[in-house]
Amino acid sequence: MSKFLNDKFKDITPYSTSDEINYNVIRLNTNESPYKPSKLIYERINNAIDNLNFYSDPDCNKLGEKLSGMFNINKSQILFGNGSDEILNFIFTAMCQDGAAFPNITYSFYKVLAEVHGVNYKLIPLQNFKIVPENYFNLNRTIFIANPNAPTGLFLSLSEIEKILIHNSNNLIVIDEAYIDFGAESAIKLIEKFENILIVRTFSKSRSLAGARLGFCVGNENLINDLRNIKNSIAPYNINALTQVAGLAVLDDEEYTQKNLIEICNTREKVYNELNNLGFNVLESKTNFLFARHENFTGQEIHNILMRNNIAVRHFTKPEEISNFIRITIGTPDQMKLMLEVLKNALR
Ligand code: PMP
Repeated sequence: MSKFLNDKFKDITPYSTSDEINYNVIRLNTNESPYKPSKLIYERINNAIDNLNFYSDPDCNKLGEKLSGMFNINKSQILFGNGSDEILNFIFTAMCQDGAAFPNITYSFYKVLAEVHGVNYKLIPLQNFKIVPENYFNLNRTIFIANPNAPTGLFLSLSEIEKILIHNSNNLIVIDEAYIDFGAESAIKLIEKFENILIVRTFSKSRSLAGARLGFCVGNENLINDLRNIKNSIAPYNINALTQVAGLAVLDDEEYTQKNLIEICNTREKVYNELNNLGFNVLESKTNFLFARHENFTGQEIHNILMRNNIAVRHFTKPEEISNFIRITIGTPDQMKLMLEVLKNALR
């Protein structure tokens, strides 16, 4: 540690990406899409390179216009981020004055951001791996809920989310919909009815653009204006020009996204059944991953068996309740077949 670091950052625990970044294995550990990005991107990026001498559009106008048409909302109700992680960072920077609350088992970045921003946070225990809406009533804090949740894959219905909104009318509720396209219902329509909801979305999963870093949030205009001011105070040109072009190309090729989504969901259902047959207990998932534990093998053992065969899955050692689970990203049918064969041979 250097002597220059502010005291308040001396004890931070950063988000760990170390076991994620290995491109020489079958990557079933980071919930990326196994499918290449839309072909439309290739040509358009080439043209966009010509304009890289100019700054990128700080307001992502073209992207905003396209998305506002898709969601039937106003462009002023959308803000883009360098991945949805950046949007989450803006919210923790500016909208957690009274503290934050989120499930004890959820996307681990919420805790990292709370700590780096000195936001006091409360962890709400899951019950039977489920988020219980009543446990979030009147908490008087900014609430973060990943829906569907990660790494469990379980989701809340819109009526359950509405209950949480009604019982926290003076607090912001952030619904992180990173995995929403894989089968659960989006809460976007609730932004007309509630001023305290902010929906966070990403192009990293269903739209095959994890490496381009593009996310966005949707909410009422005042909320988005406040966040835009924060964005313009920290990173005015947060979305680079190539990413803006790539994002728009993906949206212009919606058919391709839908085709991939169907493929991933079909594969998920098949793998769900196969894992059950192999003695796994698998949580029902509305995401592009499955969360499963084996009746006779530990999570670490399953992780190691697959890793020896160059297949990476995610194993969490903490908290204790999930230490025997592994999280498997849904890959291509071929990748899944290989993984199931390895498991079949090893577990026999
Ligand atoms: N939210 C959740 C629940 C996630 O799992 C992830 C991906 N790790 C993110 C947000 C961040 O996604 P990105 O920054 O790539 O948009």
